[in-house]
Order: sequence, then C-alpha cells, then structure tokens
Amino acid sequence: MTNRAEPHIINLTNINDERGGLGVVEAVADAGFTFERFYFLHDVPSDGARGAHAHKRLRQVMIALAGSVTVSLQGHGHRWTFRLDSPRHALLVPPGLWRELTEFSKGAVIGVLASESFDEADYIRDYDDFLAWESENRSPKKVPYVDLARYDGVIGAEISSAVNRVVKSGWYIGGPEVADFESEFAAYCGAAGSVGVANGLQALSLALRAAGIGSGDEVIIQANTFVATALAVAEVGATPILADIELTTGCVDVTSVASAITPRTAAIIAVHLYGHPADMDALRSLSEKHGLFLLEDAAQAHGAMYKGRRCGALGDAAAFSFYPTKNLGALGDAGAVVGLDADLLENVRLRANYGSRKKYHNEVIGTNSRLDPIHAAVLRAKLRHLDAWNDIRRQHARRYADFLSGLHGLAPPHVHEWADPVWHVFPVRLAEGRRDDLRKYLEEFGIGTNVHYPVPVSRQPCFADAGWRQGQFPVAERAAEELLSLPLDPMHTTAEIDRVIERIQAFFREC
Ligand SMILES: *Cc1c(COP(=O)(O)O)cnc(C)c1O
Repeated sequence: MTNRAEPHIINLTNINDERGGLGVVEAVADAGFTFERFYFLHDVPSDGARGAHAHKRLRQVMIALAGSVTVSLQGHGHRWTFRLDSPRHALLVPPGLWRELTEFSKGAVIGVLASESFDEADYIRDYDDFLAWESENRSPKKVPYVDLARYDGVIGAEISSAVNRVVKSGWYIGGPEVADFESEFAAYCGAAGSVGVANGLQALSLALRAAGIGSGDEVIIQANTFVATALAVAEVGATPILADIELTTGCVDVTSVASAITPRTAAIIAVHLYGHPADMDALRSLSEKHGLFLLEDAAQAHGAMYKGRRCGALGDAAAFSFYPTKNLGALGDAGAVVGLDADLLENVRLRANYGSRKKYHNEVIGTNSRLDPIHAAVLRAKLRHLDAWNDIRRQHARRYADFLSGLHGLAPPHVHEWADPVWHVFPVRLAEGRRDDLRKYLEEFGIGTNVHYPVPVSRQPCFADAGWRQGQFPVAERAAEELLSLPLDPMHTTAEIDRVIERIQAFFREC
C-alpha cells in the first residue's frame, strides 16, 4: 500500500445473491489505514452543500450507501470531481485536500470511514488558510534529518494490524510471531537461522559470549564506529583493540587489522558502517589464518550486498539492530543474531533466556534479552518493504553523488566494486572546518544533518584506561572532523533531496 496523494475510486468486494448485497471495506487491503471513526450524512437538502474544509492528517473512505452525491476535491494544483452513486465503489480521500459535497439526491446517505478520531486541530475551515497551508506544504522549507512518523502514512494499516494481532493473541513473550520473524529474516539474509534479542548491543555481546570470548581475549574493531561495537567487547570482559579505517568509505583498513593481531586476539568484528559492507573475503582469510571468530556488526546493513551475497551470512555470525531509525526498525529497541552455525545460534538463545532451555533449569549464567512479539510482528510487516525502501535510499544516494561530486571541496562516499550498499548513512567529506560551517548553514535553512561519529572510540572518556593516544588512529580522527551525514531516508521525497542539493551548491557559491 503506497501513500497515494491522489484521490481515487476503488471497487469494493460485493457479495450479491437472492438475499441482497453485502459490501466490504478492508482496512489493510482497500483503505491502507485503520478506521477510528464512522460517520454518515443523511437528509441533506438537494440544494445543500457539506464539507468546505480540509483535513491535515485525516484520511477517508467515502461511500454512497444510498442515493448519490458529487464530491469536489482540490489540492496540489489539481481539481477532481467524482459522482458517487453506488455502494459498490468507494472514494479514497488522502489528507490535505479541500472538499465540497453537493448535489445530494433525495434520500442520499453518504458513509465515511475516517483514519482519526475527532480532532478540531486537524481541520482547516478557511479557504485562504488552506491555500497558505498548502503552499507551505508543497515546497517544504524544512528537511528533517529523519521523520519516523511519516512511515504511518505508508504502512500505518499494516503496522496497526500487526500490533493488533499480537494484542489479541495473548502471546506477549516469544511465540509464533517471534519464530516467524526469525525464520523470515534468516531467509532474507541467506542464513541458516536467527535469534531475536533485545537490541543490537546485546546481539553483539551475546554472539561474542556464545563464541566463548571473554576475559583475557582481544577483539579487533574499527576506531570509528557507533560506540556499541566497543561496549559489547567490554561487556563480555574482553579488550577492544582498534584498527584504523579507510577515509573514503569508513570501512576498516584491513592492513591495520592485520597488524593489530597478537597471540591474544580471539575475534574480529567487521562493521558494515553506513551500510557499506566491509571487505569480508580479506577479513575471513585473516581470521582463518589466525583461528579468529569473525562477527559482522550488521546494525547498519540490512539488505546490503557483498559480492552478490547479503550481509548477515558472511561471517561466523552477525549482529543486527532494529533500533527505530535503522533500515529495518522496530517500534522500540530490538535486535537479532543471524548466522549459519546452528549450535552457536542455539547457544545465543540459551544465554538470552536466563541461560535456560528448560524452565527453571539454568545451565549457564545467562541474561534476559529477548525480542518482543510486538516488535517481531511490526518487523515482519516492514521486512516486506525493505528492498523497496533500500532502493529509494540508493536512488537518493545516486542523486547526491551525481549532483555533488562536481563541487570542489566536497567528496561523496566511495563505493568498492564488491559492494552494493544500503546507505543507512550518507556521509560526505569536507575539508577541516568547512564541515561545521556547512552544517550550520544548512541548519539555518531548516535542513537537518548529523555527524557519524564526532568522537572516535579511541577518544571516548569511557575508554580512557585503554591508553589510546591522540593521533594514534589518524584516519578515524580525521573522519570525525570531516564527515557530514546528509538527510537520506526512504520517506524523503526527491524534492527534499533536491532542496538539500541546491542549498549545498549555494553554500559553495556563497561561502
Ligand atoms: C545501532 C548500532 C549498534 C547498536 O544497536 P542498538 O540496537 O542501538 O543497541 C551497534 N553497532 C552499530 C554499528 C550500530 O549502528
């Protein structure tokens, strides 16, 4: 179900036999939203008119239950007129349109299914106010870095029905939704199985524990990543060892990894940072040579491809996060360990469930880190859209790369020939000092940006005891000064991406 901005007629399922007719409107399949309210107009005089207002968010399905009516709609510079004259059809009315209902036939009854309960703030009752609101909306002044509420307009009905299914099932921990998501997500990644856990950090730490990594072990990670990669190593009692990165991709520098290996090294965590896969073949051959556990941190890489294979099945195990802003996001914290090794996954499941396979029988000191069924159900609904959403991310990334690569002093991220990234983040690189200037400039025009990440792991106060020196990881430190993440989400329109591009071009002309 897409967020069609144009009103249109849909045919309703009608069951007709000698007993009469039965019409049906399905929330998910027909309307694309769930219904909060039903109301109906009746006994309107034939020269009467109703409507003469717009709704900002409310969506409607209108049906002529008896008689007929003319519905005139206006918005986005278009006008539409529909004559509703049969309960076999319905008119889908998206939000943001001015409407008038006229020419009611005698005895007409017009039923309306609405997506919201009554809210006066949702109404625009003055035509001039409507025109002003519309022009503000049509050329958005602001481009948020990300706006998760927009997903409701696209898959609101699927999300609501997934949540409702869980509410009604009585299964609030474990159960079929979790099991189904685990097998669907594993199949998506091309892996043998997956175990849902509470978040991405614990997906990493549980995978390390299940591989037997702990105190006395060293685990190599990259110096510029989200801090959770390093915290997971610390959490299991092992020591994070840092490798520097490649400036142009954010991927780990494999030579730096090789030179960080010592007799105490037990594992490498390969971070697919920004959704660009790490060089897994090179890291795998290092791991095999030294007998190391190779864990993917795929928290930013749902659907990303390495040499035609999906991230999640490229190492000895993979950790995913379903934090709401990730490419595949839940309604709160959630994560999973994915992989090809059934024994290892079984061990993760044991540890995530109090160290218990059998109730009240605890084999190891485990923890409580489970994927809630409500998140599993939502993730199942969103998984069906993941490839399409990743494609939109790729289109936006291509647009940025095409229009920004000519600017002197700005470099879009490089893509290795082995990679088909999914752009969880789109970081451009500017000369030192310019990054913060551009960020401030865009902010003045209402364009949200981010920095991933302003402080490398090596400079985090929580790791002060590790004794990393300023200048020890020069590329990661430079990336922290020079990278700027541009708005890039499947819910951004091409017009918004173009607005960001225009403003960046203007910055380079003016500043
Ligand atoms: C988000 C993220 C994590 C942690 O995931 P949470 O679910 O927030 O705990 C780990 N590694 C990377 C690279 C991430 O982006």
